[in-house]
Amino acid sequence: MSAPLRLRLDTQALIDNWRTLDRMSGTAACGAAVKANGYGLGAIEVAERLAGAGCRDFFVANWAEAQALAPIGLPVSVLHGVRAEDMPAALSGFARPVLNTAQQVARWKAAGGGACDVMIDTGMNRLGLSVDELDLLAGLQIETLMSHLACADEDSPMNERQRVAFAVLAGRTGARRMSLANSAGIALGSDYHFDLTRPGLALYGGVPRSEFKGTVRQVVAPEAQLLQRRRVAAGATVGYGATWCADQHAEVAIINLGYADGYFRSFSDRGSACFGSTMLPVIGRVSMDLVALDVSAAATLGEGDWIAIDFGLPEASAQSGMSEYELLTSLSARFARYWG
Ligand SMILES: *Cc1c(COP(=O)(O)O)cnc(C)c1O
Repeated sequence: MSAPLRLRLDTQALIDNWRTLDRMSGTAACGAAVKANGYGLGAIEVAERLAGAGCRDFFVANWAEAQALAPIGLPVSVLHGVRAEDMPAALSGFARPVLNTAQQVARWKAAGGGACDVMIDTGMNRLGLSVDELDLLAGLQIETLMSHLACADEDSPMNERQRVAFAVLAGRTGARRMSLANSAGIALGSDYHFDLTRPGLALYGGVPRSEFKGTVRQVVAPEAQLLQRRRVAAGATVGYGATWCADQHAEVAIINLGYADGYFRSFSDRGSACFGSTMLPVIGRVSMDLVALDVSAAATLGEGDWIAIDFGLPEASAQSGMSEYELLTSLSARFARYWG
């Protein structure tokens, strides 16, 4: 059964983005965060493509995500650590835990777990052991010692504070590698790269800092099918709440896309689509499953035609007030995903 909405995914743009980030990472290896189903694109499809390009380090949030990637046999680290109920999966060896707490360290040691990663908190106060808990790590076989930047997408003095707090840990834990930078952190310069970088957003076309403008390419392109075209008389209204009123007669297209697909309500009266070179403004409120477009300028557009949604991430983020992360990770399972 073919879906009435589809997501076109650009393999070459994804690979080019990884290569760009790899190059920007200098001598450090460049990994890939593929948590949240590869930021909404499809974790397996993304990981396979990046592995083909040379990526060797993948990051997910939890063990269910790691399990989903297990069939393709890539090196995966599980950022959220290892709960008691994760131990059978963790000990089976298809992924490495990133130990975050003293309890997780004790659990991993008691079970005789092998190679692991460790997250150190250097000021974000989210996940990770604190710097004064370093003694607990004695005896662990640590592959990668990590920390995470709170403000890498801004020019904040916090970045340098965190970098210094992390850099002083070099040589103190027996870790084979150190890793600090997410996408935005890569642009902060070589001091932030250590041995391994962990980009997510920029791989998928996100622009967390101006340095990525013009270098990172858009990967996702949503398209929706036109379900009905109608003529709306001057003075008539369109959609829930009757918020949009035609000041002269208008041609309106109803397309198969809505906030349940991640096309948020905040695109109401602000978003746009295009048919060829004709811009089609969203009019009225975005519904759960439908959006209305003013197609007065597109005389030939009819039922069954496919319409490209304007979804350039920086612009769509500005239009909707949603972050680029939210826009990507909310793209629904109702989209048929086509990799080109
Ligand atoms: C999500 C995540 C990343 C990737 O961050 P982006 O901002 O998407 O590049 C890297 N490291 C950790 C610990 C993360 O949670």
